[in-house]
Amino acid sequence: SSSDPSSPSPAKGGVENLVIIGSGPAGYTAAIYAARANLKPVVFEGFQVGGVPGGQLMTTTEVENFPGFPDGITGPDLMDRMRRQAERWGAELYQEDVESLNVTTHPFVVESSERKIICHSLIYATGATAKRLSLPREEEFWSRGISACAICDGASPLFKGQVLAVVGGGDTATEEAIYLTKYARHVHLLVRREQLRASKAMQDRVFNNPNITVHFSTETVDVVSNTKGQMSGVLTRRVDTGEEVVIEAKGLFYGIGHSPNSQLLEGQVELDHTGYVLVRDGCATTSVEGVFAAGDVQDHEWRQAVTAAGSGCIAALSAERYLVSND
Ligand code: FAD
Repeated sequence: SSSDPSSPSPAKGGVENLVIIGSGPAGYTAAIYAARANLKPVVFEGFQVGGVPGGQLMTTTEVENFPGFPDGITGPDLMDRMRRQAERWGAELYQEDVESLNVTTHPFVVESSERKIICHSLIYATGATAKRLSLPREEEFWSRGISACAICDGASPLFKGQVLAVVGGGDTATEEAIYLTKYARHVHLLVRREQLRASKAMQDRVFNNPNITVHFSTETVDVVSNTKGQMSGVLTRRVDTGEEVVIEAKGLFYGIGHSPNSQLLEGQVELDHTGYVLVRDGCATTSVEGVFAAGDVQDHEWRQAVTAAGSGCIAALSAERYLVSND
């Protein structure tokens, strides 16, 4: 039979080359590279974060550390640019959540509520979700006092030179507390237990830092505001006595961990004990041939837009190599 050169090249026998799941920096970067390699990737953008595609950065204002934007750029603007770049090169975008997938047999099957796609390779870039405390006034002060990322927001004018609080007792919280002392006047670390769970080295750094006060057996109850409606403190409760105390602080940073959005891969692809997708060191390769992972879903350590984008690039180039060698 003759082939029509104007029709989309992949989809041989209805099988797509590549499906990308996720529309954060990892997913869109993978889409840009794969589309430019003429793989005609199908992207499920999802809408789990705030009902829109674009991932975690849709929930923030200024991004000041993504290279190429010396004056900063808003998260939504940055994501819109990545999306348009992917679209320009021919990525096929669907604003749908993937509801199930099967990578135990080849070709793989990916299903949303609207469609079922059969594909030879898959890039899983579904990100991670910062755990929240669900404080009564959390929505009101999210990004206006409450943050889940010290590296992203610590240097913001809102927090610079101020007294800040960090909640949590593990490595994330202690790292955030230490990091914030670079900018803050003082940092209160609010720990629910009687001790820190962080590594001994991190504990030493916290206890030896005169700009950090650790409050043990202290539960974070809510934030309080001043008459101008700005955040002015954290309402805490002593776990042992029930006594409520307001600790003065202009910002509250959550350091209580992240959950990788890896549910769809459970039982099919190797995950670590906390649910992060296991990839080969420095690669995007997972335990299943043809399945690649990129961004925060496989990275519990760096969790930055630029590292997510970098790993999305690696995943797309790896998928291309895989498809060529299995053609
Ligand atoms: P994400 O951005 O988490 O995107 C994952 C995508 O997958 C989402 O679009 C989601 O809808 C989609 N998805 C999930 N499940 C499904 C499904 N079943 N089907 C289809 N789609 C699905 N980093 C910086 O470098 N600089 C900053 O200034 C900065 N500020 C931040 C501010 C905030 C408030 C937050 C929360 C994070 C910030 N970060 C910042 C971190 C940065 O956002 C993340 O590291 C980055 O977004 C991770 O990219 P990702 O592509 O792995 O995943």
